[in-house]
Amino acid sequence: MFKYNKEKHYVKLFCPQCNSNIEFLIPDSVFSKPHEHYPFTFRYIHGNPAHSVTLYFDKELNIRGKEFGDSLQLSNEIIENMFRDRKITQNDDSSKIIKTLFNTFTTIIDARVPKAEEIHYIVGKQLGDKFEGLFFSEEEEALLEEISRFWKRNGFGIIDELRFEPSRIIFNVYECFECSHLPNLGRPVCKLDEGFFTTLFEKKFGKEYEIKELECFATGNDHCQFQIKEVGRKVI
Ligand SMILES: [Zn+2]
Ligand SMILES: [Zn+2]
Repeated sequence: MFKYNKEKHYVKLFCPQCNSNIEFLIPDSVFSKPHEHYPFTFRYIHGNPAHSVTLYFDKELNIRGKEFGDSLQLSNEIIENMFRDRKITQNDDSSKIIKTLFNTFTTIIDARVPKAEEIHYIVGKQLGDKFEGLFFSEEEEALLEEISRFWKRNGFGIIDELRFEPSRIIFNVYECFECSHLPNLGRPVCKLDEGFFTTLFEKKFGKEYEIKELECFATGNDHCQFQIKEVGRKVI
């Protein structure tokens, strides 16, 4: 199966990694920006574990070729890029070194373990449970301020734009430790954060919460965004 609609930037093709047909739209910006060389490429990363298809476009914007990359290739590339961008030195503080160790580990796990997402979430829940005693606030806003200080101090990210709406709380995280080394994978990936926040809130306030990541560095944003919703029932 191969379909390409040049006007709509729509592609449908068979992905051997997914073992099924996938369809996607190529962002307008790929075509509107000038290209120095032809053919130029567009890479679509998708799936879990994440892998890629690269399309080659000629001057007439026709697709001249395609190339598939598996999840191991992608994870190696993510790690290469991370070390290139971070420029680790002997003088770096330990939070940067440990974050890099964590990111290397999770990137490899993500590429090789089908249940990686679930593992991140369970790790987050365990940590939320064990770290609960470090937080003292008795209401949500103060707890989020405490979390924000804890995140910043440990190099986990910068929490900002905290908004209290009638039915939910929303906040952004910049430089998130879980995902800021990743390319656009097309899905939010910060499951450790989700598990951590959920357990921490539930233990602190004795209610049930649904905490979801709505936007992520790994969905092409420059931040992650989390939504906290009180579901209401008591946790037993
Ligand atoms: Zn695929
Ligand atoms: Zn994220």
